[in-house]
Amino acid sequence: DPRINGIRTKIRVVPNFPKPGIMFQDITTLLLEPKAFKDTIDLFVERYKGKNISVVAGIEARGFIFGPPIALAIGAKFVPLRKPKKLPGEVMHEEYVLEYGRDCIEMHVGAVKAGERALVVDDLIATGGTLSAAINLLERAGAEVVECACVIELPELKGRERLSGKSLYILVEYR
Ligand code: IMP
Repeated sequence: DPRINGIRTKIRVVPNFPKPGIMFQDITTLLLEPKAFKDTIDLFVERYKGKNISVVAGIEARGFIFGPPIALAIGAKFVPLRKPKKLPGEVMHEEYVLEYGRDCIEMHVGAVKAGERALVVDDLIATGGTLSAAINLLERAGAEVVECACVIELPELKGRERLSGKSLYILVEYR
């Protein structure tokens, strides 16, 4: 799809952020380009429209940028998966392992019902730890995770292999 290359060229790579040795994929430059931003959302909407998805779960923080326009366009609800202690209601939480230490994401109890069909959205998959925790949360709530969708994949980190067989759709690979 010719739109993909337009999207790829709008993502800025910032070396040594937030730490030395990290090549940070910065999607804020993509958001500055209405055509490329719209193409990004359209590609996801074209894939998920008519697939009976009732919930789009977006991962804090950049899943909150891409998730809601997809949810609105396909007629699904949007559920934020947040960092600990941000959600005011009763939560389910799921820990996951990072390179150094652990982190956790939370979801409101009752936001997703058993049997719902869910799409998980984030900007980027690296090791896959975050998406895998998101899948676990949704499945614990009884939802079926239809697919995970990210703008960018870092394939060398093999995050795909941590998604316990769940399908992953991405627009851009960064090698
Ligand atoms: P993972 O859990 O190792 O797959 O890391 C993915 C999470 O870290 C996502 O929520 C991303 O937003 C964030 N992340 C990791 N590396 C980058 C990057 O280079 N740019 C933007 N976000 C990143």
